[in-house]
Amino acid sequence: MRYLIISDLHSNWEALQAVLEDAAGKYEQILCCGDIVGYGSDPNPVVDWVRTHVQATVRGNHDRACVGLEDLEWFNPVAQAASIWTMTQLTEVNADFIRNLPMGPVTVGNFQLIHGSPVDEDDYLVSADDAVSAFPYAESSLLFFGHTHLQGGFRWRSDQVQAIGRLHPDWQTRYLLEIDPQCAYLINPGSVGQPRDSDPRAAYVLYDTEAELLYYHRVPYDVETTQRKIRDAGLPDLLAARLAVGR
Ligand code: ZN
Repeated sequence: MRYLIISDLHSNWEALQAVLEDAAGKYEQILCCGDIVGYGSDPNPVVDWVRTHVQATVRGNHDRACVGLEDLEWFNPVAQAASIWTMTQLTEVNADFIRNLPMGPVTVGNFQLIHGSPVDEDDYLVSADDAVSAFPYAESSLLFFGHTHLQGGFRWRSDQVQAIGRLHPDWQTRYLLEIDPQCAYLINPGSVGQPRDSDPRAAYVLYDTEAELLYYHRVPYDVETTQRKIRDAGLPDLLAARLAVGR
């Protein structure tokens, strides 16, 4: 099976369309690691699309916040404002769909989806040290996660953890990772709708389970249109500005 794996869409319709165009014909099923909504200006089109096209999705912290399942005092003022705005926009059907998303891990074949970390759905896996603490909690040798908006992840082999990251010299628009059955992996496809690894292009992963090959991808999208829609919706300007720099 060939999967398109995405995360942290954050109501960004233009970024999602660019990913789907770029990946067209290269997958059979779509999986998502959460944070469908929050920050961006198109929560309903994005959730409508997820409901009808994605085979498995775990919930993210912003998904919880936007349907009243999370105390907003944990969020910074910008994230709070975006959550409250999203709450007023979501249709009843879409709010219900988000409210019923599973916490994860969700098992798909021989791998799993989570939002933050196998330790806790809200933990951030940023450094190799974070991954060293998290790997013992993994129930599968291959986990896909999101939450940090940093494309990459971690490989565990013989008690050593190595970051798979954007320092790799080959990392341009596509980077191939061969899955080694001797290793365990925590893989972050990166964020579709709000990348934070200094690359503003939308991020995603294609995973071919038969070939055991995983491709990290980046694709440019119409950032200016997304920015204009965020500003027109009256959302905080920072949410528009950061998309241009990917931070
Ligand atoms: Zn997120």
